[in-house]
Amino acid sequence: MCIKRKKPLYNRILLKISGQSFQKKNTSMFGIDILSIKRIASEIKVLLECGIEIGVLLGGGNLFRGYDLKQRGLSNVISDQIGVLSTVINSLAFKDIIQKLSVKTCLMSSFPIGNITEIYNYEKAMDLLSNKYVVIFSAGIGNPFFSTDLAACLRGIEIQADVVLKGTKVNGIYNCDPEKHLPSKMYKLLSYDFLLKKELKIMDISAICLARDYKIPIRVFNINKMDSLMRVVFGEKEGTTVM
Ligand code: UDP
Repeated sequence: MCIKRKKPLYNRILLKISGQSFQKKNTSMFGIDILSIKRIASEIKVLLECGIEIGVLLGGGNLFRGYDLKQRGLSNVISDQIGVLSTVINSLAFKDIIQKLSVKTCLMSSFPIGNITEIYNYEKAMDLLSNKYVVIFSAGIGNPFFSTDLAACLRGIEIQADVVLKGTKVNGIYNCDPEKHLPSKMYKLLSYDFLLKKELKIMDISAICLARDYKIPIRVFNINKMDSLMRVVFGEKEGTTVM
């Protein structure tokens, strides 16, 4: 139930959830952690009850990432195609769990996958979002050599979201990798150009350029932190904003 009285900062969001958020806490174990999905799905349900319109786009890094498969000898295109399919697998698990919470949901993918998902359709997505469906965009942009960060910015711009929220396992964007260097400083606010110049590797460069060109803000935050999603949407201090 929505208990916030403040006005939300955003009315329509594109929430990108990195695959790592679907991984068991404190392990590097691959697979899907159902409990993590359940927690995130219930936070999304509360936002929906607050009147927020929500598109969700999932990564696949908890299953397969193109880069890792390429390192292990698979060809570029096949590696990325496997990565793309892993985003569909995550999306199916997410759809099942959020539907069990009685949330109206539609799962779309960038290319036809038989009767497992619907194919992405801009008009239908817009209509469903206005009718309080959570629309899940799977399969990235459907092409190898891209990432789900780019897909999130692209879909965010298409659906006229107010922001792209990148939910990940770090609290925001740091001046250096907080897992490797101590102390490190977290930025609250950054410009697209500063981020591009610094090459901080938090996001794919093409995604940042697209967001900059279409002036859609990006917020990077730790989705594994309880209620962080709600705090971000209601304008409380959380994560890093790029604009
Ligand atoms: N991918 C791709 N095209 C896309 C989106 C994703 O080729 O449009 C592949 C790419 O290999 C990537 C993998 O799918 O490594 C999983 O996506 P991503 O790495 O963005 O997931 P995340 O790190 O956010 O979990």
